[in-house]
Amino acid sequence: TPGLYIVATPIGNLGDITLRAVDVLRRCDGIACEDTRVTGKLLKHLGISRPMWRYDDHSEHRDRSRLVDSMRQRAVALVSDAGTPMISDPGYRLVNDCRAEGIPVTVVPGACAAIAGLALSGLPNDRFLFGGFLPSKDKARREALEELAGVDATLIFYDTAPRLGKSLAAIAETLPDREVAVARELTKLHEELRRGLPAGLIAYFEANPPKGEIVLLVGPPPESVAREEDADAMLIDALRTMKVSQAAAQ
Ligand code: SAM
Repeated sequence: TPGLYIVATPIGNLGDITLRAVDVLRRCDGIACEDTRVTGKLLKHLGISRPMWRYDDHSEHRDRSRLVDSMRQRAVALVSDAGTPMISDPGYRLVNDCRAEGIPVTVVPGACAAIAGLALSGLPNDRFLFGGFLPSKDKARREALEELAGVDATLIFYDTAPRLGKSLAAIAETLPDREVAVARELTKLHEELRRGLPAGLIAYFEANPPKGEIVLLVGPPPESVAREEDADAMLIDALRTMKVSQAAAQ
């Protein structure tokens, strides 16, 4: 059926492509992608051959409206180099324009590094805030963290190996008591999860300079952890009471 299909692709391990994603990529009329070489490799691995067009949100408005217009007759898949389109990746303007033009939009969900990192970290996940990439300038980075200091949630950032040291230093300065997790090379051969206080992680990564792709997570302020433990205790108490009352009823 014509329209736009937002298709998530793997973040490392190619086995993470979904059956539905393969089906949509095989049957669509064409694929809008960030980099035709990267997507070309994935298609080759899947044994799929489809026309590809480069797309990013900075593409000329004219090109975008032509692409949107074509979706009245054609099924177009949108993919990014890895993971879920739009999550620190292009696609937002395209989806927005499709909505405005009444073009059907379908999502084919799958891998997303932020969610994979959160799951692996073991940090509280009842509330989280995705902060994208921290600013690259020292002052802006510090200010961004200060602004988030009061948020009662786990903070998730995308990062790069060369920048990790600076990010950790800024966290050590602004949020020194928070538990931090570094999720590296998720789903790949050298997947690694390191957790600790910022100072300890700085020392570790100075001794072992990181390589590859990184999700950086900062646990919530300590009180909310305490509240979560309270909630667990309440649940356990409630279950005990249920057992006792069941036993009494028998
Ligand atoms: N849209 C993608 C998603 O859904 O995860 C993210 C794209 S963003 C341009 C790239 C960043 O995602 C990397 O710098 C890194 O922070 C994170 N990332 C992507 N793949 C990863 C992996 N396998 N392990 C850890 N982080 C990853």
